[in-house]
Amino acid sequence: SDSLLSAAHPQAALSAANPFSLEGKLALVTGGGTGIGLEIARCLSVAGATVVITGRREAVLQEAVADLGPSVHYLTNDVGDLAQLEELVAHIETTFGPLDILVNNAGINMKKPALEVTDEDFSRILHTNLNAVFALTRACARRMVARKSGVILMISSMAAYYGIDRVVAYAASKSAVEGMVKVLASEFSKDNVRINAIAPGFIETEMSRTAMNSDPERRDRAMRRTPMGRFGQPQDIGHAAVFLASDAARYVTGASLPVDGGNSIGF
Ligand code: NDP
Repeated sequence: SDSLLSAAHPQAALSAANPFSLEGKLALVTGGGTGIGLEIARCLSVAGATVVITGRREAVLQEAVADLGPSVHYLTNDVGDLAQLEELVAHIETTFGPLDILVNNAGINMKKPALEVTDEDFSRILHTNLNAVFALTRACARRMVARKSGVILMISSMAAYYGIDRVVAYAASKSAVEGMVKVLASEFSKDNVRINAIAPGFIETEMSRTAMNSDPERRDRAMRRTPMGRFGQPQDIGHAAVFLASDAARYVTGASLPVDGGNSIGF
């Protein structure tokens, strides 16, 4: 019977508590001062986590923590400076305790026709969106694997799956991150470290709103391709992050979750 099955299950006790709670957890959200990262930080902290956000601009981070409340802290940091990422993670763990959750959210984009993209452009995008993501993931995962506990999230993009004009380097970086998720999920599974991606569709941030408003044709095209008929909000990504970071997703690893109002149904 069902009751016999659940009684025999070693993790059955979980169902009694709120499996979405992040109470007592420590999270690091890169690029947490603005846009999607800011709302991921807010949602994780509302779910009970202590959150450290990073970014390059101190004034932006100060404003964010003032808005987010006492369980969110900031550290000014450039993820592109790979040599100091081990030190960053060590500093966070000395100050706040063991990291339970890493959200690789910091990312940059550039819109240019492919034939105008220089080697320098291409390297710059790949460096932030891929090299830095790997280096920080490795620094955190080393500790998580040793502790046999941890969750890593990648903020990917539907640009990883579909041909979207003028984002060749960005799409390459996000596709590479999706590939990385599967390999790392396989390598870390036995050590109870889960890793998943969230693939946002068109999300309204200050930046994307400005870009869309200045190009009504692009805005209309994006809207036509979105079955739900509206763009997503940064909190929609935050809520998905809470689920994937929590014990509610304890059997989910190596996945990529589209949060895109139906873009992934097909263009
Ligand atoms: P934002 O530009 O608002 O956020 C990017 C954040 O990353 C900023 O806070 C920025 O802060 C930080 N950042 C950039 N470079 C670095 C760096 N070298 N070191 C540390 N922090 C850095 O954009 P979004 O919120 O839209 O993007 C967040 C993520 O979501 C990105 O990975 C993006 O690719 C992804 N995404 C967004 C979509 C959208 O529609 N908005 C759709 C699909 C994916 P600072 O400049 O101060 O360093």
